[in-house]
Formats: sequence, structure tokens, C-alpha cells
Amino acid sequence: MDFTMPEDVKQIQMLTKRFVRQELVPIEDLVEQRDEYPEDIRRPLIKRSIELGIRNMETPVKFGGGGVGALGVVAAHEEAGWSSEAVTYSIMRPGPGASTAFMEAATEQQRQKYMYPVLRGEREGCAAWTEPDAGGDAASIKARAVKKGKHWVLNGVKHFCTNADKSDFVIVGAATDPGKPPRERFTQFIIDFGTPGLQLSFYQPMMGRHGLKSFELVLENCEVPAENVLGEVGSALRRTLTNFGHGRLLMAARFVGTAERALEMATSYAKRRVTFGQPIASRQAVQWMLVDMAIDIHATRMMTYHAAWQADQELDHRALQFTQAMVKLHASQMVCRVVDNAIQIHGGIGYSRLLPLERMYRDVRLYRIAEGPDEMMKHVIARYILQAEA
Ligand SMILES: Cc1cc2nc3c(=O)[nH]c(=O)nc-3n(C[C@H](O)[C@H](O)[C@H](O)COP(=O)(O)OP(=O)(O)OC[C@H]3O[C@@H](n4cnc5c(N)ncnc54)[C@H](O)[C@@H]3O)c2cc1C
Repeated sequence: MDFTMPEDVKQIQMLTKRFVRQELVPIEDLVEQRDEYPEDIRRPLIKRSIELGIRNMETPVKFGGGGVGALGVVAAHEEAGWSSEAVTYSIMRPGPGASTAFMEAATEQQRQKYMYPVLRGEREGCAAWTEPDAGGDAASIKARAVKKGKHWVLNGVKHFCTNADKSDFVIVGAATDPGKPPRERFTQFIIDFGTPGLQLSFYQPMMGRHGLKSFELVLENCEVPAENVLGEVGSALRRTLTNFGHGRLLMAARFVGTAERALEMATSYAKRRVTFGQPIASRQAVQWMLVDMAIDIHATRMMTYHAAWQADQELDHRALQFTQAMVKLHASQMVCRVVDNAIQIHGGIGYSRLLPLERMYRDVRLYRIAEGPDEMMKHVIARYILQAEA
């Protein structure tokens, strides 16, 4: 077994590290405080990330991307985790508008109209699957699409649709054949904002990730042309679950980066802060917090790299989902523990808004819920273990 990081992955890591620390970290506070990512800052950063080869690195070469494997992408996302997700979200990846799974499913006409412009940074797309009554249980969504001549008519309510305010189109999941089993029941539709019957009904303010907004979205007799069906009718759930798995791996990588930053801050502060005549770093109680943090980060990094290696081996997708669920569960809990400990070591200043730790604490809490809550991850893991045993 060879743990040496391949040279090309190291280069991706260095390039992303420089970009994130020099160009993204400095704007975090502004985005956080305004709860808005000014377009005159965000747009040029999207362009710059494309030029550097960062934003489209994982898009397959046949679609004009970098074709970088999972290990390289994970290494880049670990660096991205150093900054806030509100800032990195549309900079590090083309987003749901041109995810590889959607690109693969799209027709050439759809790619020309929607996805290539996203890769060029000219358009943006978001994804709406979750509904007020269905999130973790993805197969229980109620939105309905009915074929009427050359159109599909969609009705339903979606919520937590992230980045919808900056998007030109949305990829909506709806039941096309409610009588069929879940894996054949749902279809995705690409819908342009501005289409009659599609409305962003309200902004749903969140505890963290300020500057990256989520919205409720209402579909009321929204007519969508048949050419805007993404992939085969009935194929959406399989694609969505595959997409989730990959997203979970990249999230885990970002948590390693966030946790690393918190550990670095805590270590540096512990050496400088003096109480009762000695730096707090000399106290075993503080050392042990740092030790726990370092072990937690190291273990998660290894799990993440291993899951990336597995993805690059193109393992059976059920085995991959199992590992990705374990990594996501462990990483999201790990980053919450590490940031909490970093605040503890900083004392009052850690709780203040004068340092990024307070923002990180709010931001990371999301990840024990989004893209599948902890308990859902356990459900996926348990199912795999029990089936393997059987
Ligand atoms: C900031 C933010 C951004 C988001 N962006 C998007 C987006 O862009 N597009 C989109 O489609 N969705 C988005 N989501 C939705 C997100 O993926 C869901 O919130 C998430 O999957 C959880 O679904 P839910 O909120 O309906 O919780 P539920 O599924 O209702 O679960 C609630 C709680 O019940 C418990 N639970 C659920 N299932 C089980 C189980 N099987 N066993 C044990 N306990 C269980 C868990 O404790 C869970 O936290 C976003 C959410 C947030 C908060």
C-alpha cells in the first residue's frame, strides 16, 4: 500500500490552496456580514476559477472539463473547506446546473442550451428535489408532472432550493408515474426561471452559510416542453442518489479543511494565551483537546482519501454509497466537535464575532442535516451491513 500523494494531485492541492487563501478567504467577512455575495465580486471569481482550471476540474474531458479523478477533486475540496461555503459554493464547482450526472443524462441540445453555458460561467442552475413534507425520505416527494400533448404540466412545492436567486434555470424532480416503484417513479425537468407557473415564493433565512440563499419554489400548472425532460422518464431517483453520494464525499473533504483551520487557530492561540502565568498550551486539559482534534481530523482525512480512491476504482455503486455515507456521517460530526473545541480553547473571543470560529460553528451545524441527516446515513450504512451479512 502506497500513501504517497501523486504529483498531479499535489499540484491541484497547491493551486487550490493559493486561490482559496489569497482570493476567497479575504471576502468571507463581507459576504457573511451583508448576507449577500456581491455580483461584482462573485462573477469575476467564477471566471478566475474557470481560468485556473479549478471550477470544472471534475467535469469529464469529453464535455470540456479537466477530467480530474476523485482523489484530485477531494484534495481540492479539502483546501476549499478552509473558507466559508457561502463564498466557495459557486466558485469551486459548476453546481447542480452542470453536475457530471446531469451532463451525462442530458441531450446534446440541453447541453448546448444549459450546461455548456454553466461550464463557461455564463449561466447558472440549481436543483429542487426537497419539499416541505419530504427531504431525507427522497422517494416521498409529491410534486407531480402530467404529460399534455408536447408538454408536461408540473404542480408542487419545493423548498430549500439553494442559489435559486442567482440561477437561470432549475432542475426539478417530480413524480411522472406514481403507480411505479420509486426507482421508476420520478423524472427531472429543466425549467427556465421566468416560465409561467414557476415562482420563487420566499427566501428561507438560515442559521449559517450567510450569503448563499435558499428559497421555496412553487409550481402551479407550469408547462414544460417535452425536450426539457432530463434523461429517461422515470430515471431521476437513481441519478439523484448517485449525485448525493458524490456530493457527500466532497462535503467530507471540505470538513477536513474547515477542521484543519480551526485546529491551526486553536494551536496558535493556545501558545499565545497566558493564564495564571503560563500559556494555556502547557495545560494538559488544553493539550488533550488539541490531540483529540488532530486525531479526529487525521482519521477523517484517511477515510475521505480512501473513499476517493474507491470512487476512482469505479466500485459497485452500492459499496460506494456505503463508504460515502460513513465518511459523510463521520466527517460532519467530526467538524462540529473540532470547531466546538477550538471555540472552547479560545474562550470568550472564540464565541465573539471577531473571529471566524463563531461563523464556522453555525455553518458546520448544517452538515449533520443537509444531503441526508446523520440518522439517514446510519440507515444507509445499516442496510448495507445487514444485506452483506445476509
Ligand atoms: C441550507 C439548506 C440547503 C439545502 N439545499 C437544498 C437544495 O438546493 N435542493 C434540495 O433539493 N434540497 C436542499 N436541502 C434539503 C436537505 O437536503 C434536506 O433538508 C435534508 O435532506 C433533510 O431533509 P428534511 O429537512 O426533510 O428532514 P427529514 O427527512 O424530515 O428528517 C428530520 C429528522 O428526522 C430524523 N430522521 C429522518 N429519517 C430518519 C430515519 N430513517 N431514521 C431515523 N431518523 C430519521 C433525523 O433526525 C432528521 O434530521 C437543503 C437544506 C438546507 C437546510
